Amino acid sequence: MAVNIEQYNAIKKELGSEVTLVAVSKTKPVEDIKALYDLGQRDFGENYVQELVEKQVSLPPDIRWHFIGHLQSNKVKYIAPFVHLIHGVDSYKLLLEIEKQAAKNLRVIHCLLQVHIAQEETKFGFDAAELADIMNILQKGQLQHVQVLGLMGMASFTEDEQQLQKEFIYLKGLFNEYFPASNAQLPVSDPLLTTLYSPFPILSMGMSSDYQLAIACGSNMVRVGSLLFGARF
Ligand SMILES: *Cc1c(COP(=O)(O)O)cnc(C)c1O
Repeated sequence: MAVNIEQYNAIKKELGSEVTLVAVSKTKPVEDIKALYDLGQRDFGENYVQELVEKQVSLPPDIRWHFIGHLQSNKVKYIAPFVHLIHGVDSYKLLLEIEKQAAKNLRVIHCLLQVHIAQEETKFGFDAAELADIMNILQKGQLQHVQVLGLMGMASFTEDEQQLQKEFIYLKGLFNEYFPASNAQLPVSDPLLTTLYSPFPILSMGMSSDYQLAIACGSNMVRVGSLLFGARF
C-alpha cells in the first residue's frame, strides 16, 4: 500500500482546524482511500466522473466527495445524488445543469467557481470579468438548488515561487471581494455562530507541491494527492 500515513498525520497537524484537507484519490484504489478513512479522513477528491461513481458505491456513505476536475454538463446527473462540493464550475451553462440535477434530487449542491489564474491557456476557469458577470447573475437569486460557497484555482505548473505567490494572492483578492465574510474573525468553536455564518466561504487553492504557499496566501481548503497516496503513473 502506497498511503503515507506519517505524511498524512503531519499534514493534518500542520493544517489544524482552519484549513480543510481534501485527499485527492484519483487513480488510487479504494483500499488506499479506506486506509485514510480509518484514520478519520472524510473529504476525498476525484476528477473523473465514472471513477468517482464506482468508488462511491463501494466506500462508506459518510465520505464527503469533492469533484475537483473539469465537469462536463452531460455528466452532472451521475454525481448529483451524492456529491458534497463541486470545485471546478467554469461556465454558467454548467451551473444551470447542476441546478437542474440538484432540483431533481431534491437537494442543494454546493459549488465553487473556478478562476483561471495560471499562465497556461489549457487550464480552465473564469477570468475576472466573467467572474463579475456570473456573480451578478447569482445575486439575482434564481438558482435555488445551487449554492456557490467560494472560489477555486489551479496555479501554474512551475517551481517559480514568486509566480505562484502572485497567482494565489490574485485569487485571494477576488475571494475577499466577492466572499467578504471570509474576513470575519469568527470563533468557529461557538456552535451558534457557526450556524449563523454557515456555510463558511471556501477558498480552494494549493496542491502537494504548493499547499503551504497557498495557505500563507489565504487558502482554507487544499487538495493534496501525491504527497498522501504516492505518485500517479
Ligand atoms: C490531481 C489534482 C490535485 C492534486 O494534485 P497533487 O499534485 O497530486 O497533490 C489537486 N487539484 C486538482 C484539480 C487535481 O486535478
